[in-house]
Amino acid sequence: MNPIRGVVFNIQRCSLHDGPGIRTTVFLKGCPLGCFWCQNPESQATSAELLYDRRKCTLCGACRSACPHGAVRLVQGKPTYDRTLCRGCGRCCPVCPNEARSLSGKTMSADEVLAEVRRDVKFYRRSGGGVTLSGGEPMSQPRFSRELLGRCRQEGLHTTLDTCGAAPWARLRGVLEQADFVLLDIKHLDPAKHAAATGRDNRLILANAKRIAKLKPLRLRIPLIPGFNDDAAAIGAIAAFARNELGGPAIDLLPYNRLGEIKYDFLDREGPALLTQTDERLRELEALLGDTR
Ligand code: SF4
Ligand code: SF4
Repeated sequence: MNPIRGVVFNIQRCSLHDGPGIRTTVFLKGCPLGCFWCQNPESQATSAELLYDRRKCTLCGACRSACPHGAVRLVQGKPTYDRTLCRGCGRCCPVCPNEARSLSGKTMSADEVLAEVRRDVKFYRRSGGGVTLSGGEPMSQPRFSRELLGRCRQEGLHTTLDTCGAAPWARLRGVLEQADFVLLDIKHLDPAKHAAATGRDNRLILANAKRIAKLKPLRLRIPLIPGFNDDAAAIGAIAAFARNELGGPAIDLLPYNRLGEIKYDFLDREGPALLTQTDERLRELEALLGDTR
């Protein structure tokens, strides 16, 4: 029988903020939401995508010869990339002398991911860490997520699922069975504002949050997005929901990080241009969380 395979876009070793202890975080491609501020836009599509950094390109033309799909053509003597013809095969990446081209997304089996994960077992053991499945959204690849977390557990590794919660409960429950701990993103309590900013309202997410809280140790994470939810009303409402409906889990506020904005350029997409919160603003918002930290 063929092993279940998933599309992985990053494996980050020695993560310190993705669950207890020192962890390896495995990032899977695909997400059901379309948050306008997404800091990993290369994670949103389920298939592999080419990232092209024009700043590094010296127009040498090596990628044109390597591309079997005609996605790099000569226009007025210069190699020009046409994303509409790109199939994400990645053949142009290793030939680029300037590392201007890279592929986001690699199809891997659980065995291949585990081989990476095992490299840091001694750190997990010493620190109480383990493996975190993140994304994108791991629930975009539920069979692979369940398989991978289950295999980690068989090896005695602590498992964390980092999810946005936007998945049918039956599917989410199946993956949760293999998770020791859950990190859940809550972005806004107002369904209309949530839908306008992410493409989907939050009813399923909030219903799942209540279900998860009954089953698993849980920590909430709120990405702070300027003008969307970094105000007292939005954060206070989430804190009250956590206290009243979820049994008062810990909550982390994640200040907006501009590092992801350049990736939109690599994908030929229009990205956000937002300012991160000041330390003072962050302290004011953290004060609203009371003892949920
Ligand atoms: S990823 Fe493949 S299809 Fe796309 S430009 Fe490179 S070689 Fe061509
Ligand atoms: S191989 Fe690299 S440097 Fe050369 S044209 Fe292609 S992207 Fe530019």
